[in-house]
Amino acid sequence: MFDIIRKSPANWQVPPNLLDYDALCRSFDWASARRAMAGLPGGGLNIAHEAVSRHVVEGRGGRIALRHLGRDGAVSEVSFAMLDEAASRFANVLESLGVARGEAVFSLSGRLPAFYSAAVGTLKRGAVFCPLFSAFGPEPIRARLEIGRGVCLVTTRMLFQCKVAPILDALPGLRVVLLIDGEAGDERGQVRALPRLMDAAAARYSAAATSPEDHALMHFTSGTTGKPKGAVLVHDAVVAQSATARYALDLHEGDIFWCTADPGWVTGMSYGVIAPLVCGVTSIVDEMEFDAERWYAIIENHKVAVWYTAPTAIRMLMKVGAEVAGKHDLRSLRFLASVGEPLNPEAVVWSQRTFGRPFHDNWWQTETGGIMIANFAALPVKPGSMGRPLPGIEAAIVERTPRGIRVVEQPDVDGELALKAGWPSMFRGYLGEDERYRKCFADGWYLTGDLARRDRDGYYWFVGRSDDVIKTAGHLVGPFEVESALMEHPAVAEAAVIGKPDEVAGNTIKAFVALKAGHEASPALERDLMAHARRRLGPAVAPREIAFRDNLPKTRSGKIMRRLLRARELGLPEGDISTLESDEKK
Ligand code: AMP
Repeated sequence: MFDIIRKSPANWQVPPNLLDYDALCRSFDWASARRAMAGLPGGGLNIAHEAVSRHVVEGRGGRIALRHLGRDGAVSEVSFAMLDEAASRFANVLESLGVARGEAVFSLSGRLPAFYSAAVGTLKRGAVFCPLFSAFGPEPIRARLEIGRGVCLVTTRMLFQCKVAPILDALPGLRVVLLIDGEAGDERGQVRALPRLMDAAAARYSAAATSPEDHALMHFTSGTTGKPKGAVLVHDAVVAQSATARYALDLHEGDIFWCTADPGWVTGMSYGVIAPLVCGVTSIVDEMEFDAERWYAIIENHKVAVWYTAPTAIRMLMKVGAEVAGKHDLRSLRFLASVGEPLNPEAVVWSQRTFGRPFHDNWWQTETGGIMIANFAALPVKPGSMGRPLPGIEAAIVERTPRGIRVVEQPDVDGELALKAGWPSMFRGYLGEDERYRKCFADGWYLTGDLARRDRDGYYWFVGRSDDVIKTAGHLVGPFEVESALMEHPAVAEAAVIGKPDEVAGNTIKAFVALKAGHEASPALERDLMAHARRRLGPAVAPREIAFRDNLPKTRSGKIMRRLLRARELGLPEGDISTLESDEKK
């Protein structure tokens, strides 16, 4: 249905880092990738050293690490040397406050330079950094600080007053709260003004002599289902995060890079902080939220070369239309990538038409710590496919059996996506939930909980979360396939599909649809959509019902919450909705 998008070397402004996929897969090994790290002067590995101090030691301290675009329109730049110094001061502040190696430092902040110095400074100290979404309400913050045994929280005055002050008494383990914009008058109890402490702290700090297996990061994930779990990553993760950024995001030293992810999501840390710093690129740090006009202006004004965003944002850009993009000079864009949710083929084709380049979908999870499957700059893109495994990553489609798993060798079969355990950024546990962690592995494979299929060319196609898949009249239907077909209709901006129990069919398929600007919900449009879906999918897989909505409920990282749509449809409990965007909460 959608043509393969082939790349022509004649169009490459800069040759991609990965040119010969098969050759690199054969020659690549993690031990060599690890040798590309600087390592600590006295031995050991520390992410902060690789990301920032190394550049200073090697004479690149004057380069710009961050270009911060503030809410007030002010633009400020932070060099690697400035970030290194701020991180050192922060590490000294932690030490002076008694925050020990291995203890957890949480952040609750938007995209502010202080977030970066807190993250890097915490790693320098050898403590564990755990970013939270700043849009969380008090209860999800409390639950995560408690599960993650947070001893220190870095936040702003405003967020503190609204969200943390009410729960402070319930968190006896939280010994100190550092206010990024705090003043002397704010200091009471465990609350401290960070600027004052930073000014008083020494500007040098030698990174803690952490080993590759020491805990470095913790990310809470509830995915689109279930209760939050704290996935732990180690310092060795930097080996995979930097290698994958070079191959799957095609980062070249000196690039202007824009990762739009929220700092509270794993993408905001792995590819918003760590990987771009290690790769020596300049990151755009935009404090504001999505706005199509402003986003295009950022790309134009700051000459963004590599842009990493999510399907929700791409669909919103599609919703406002290509004319808005046409008003800007976007020729600086060299490579576009997307993650977090399936990227509908329609969006890939739209991007090729609008920007002259496709969005390159890639797949990973909090638990994998880095990109595992990707479309690459030099390789053909099959719209709708999430691409091929990264060098060093062995992926497979497997079937669970009573005694373990069976690897499905033949192509084009739906099954669970599994990864051979052992890559450096693989999570090392769910905090306090050993049994839950153990259950993620079988026969040396990590089982992702996602269903996918691999085609004859080795490209992987996302089918659905195993808990979102619908069994209807004997067919297993992945919601993505139905949603993508609906999105091909010119009126549809977004679609989400659920199964509804049915005595005859087991389940019937219901679709929720948000329309593009200029289209009105009507019985005629509903009939037209039904007919379109039947033509594309056949009657067994096409939705039986279609409901129109202004917006679909999404998590803060942009994933459509099908579980919630289903619960609301069937009158079931809504479960954990702490990651739901607030305007969708009822
Ligand atoms: P999280 O850990 O919150 O980042 O969520 C990971 C989940 O997001 C994966 O297990 C997938 O279900 C989904 N996901 C991430 N990237 C993709 C992608 N490119 N295509 C389809 N699903 C994706």
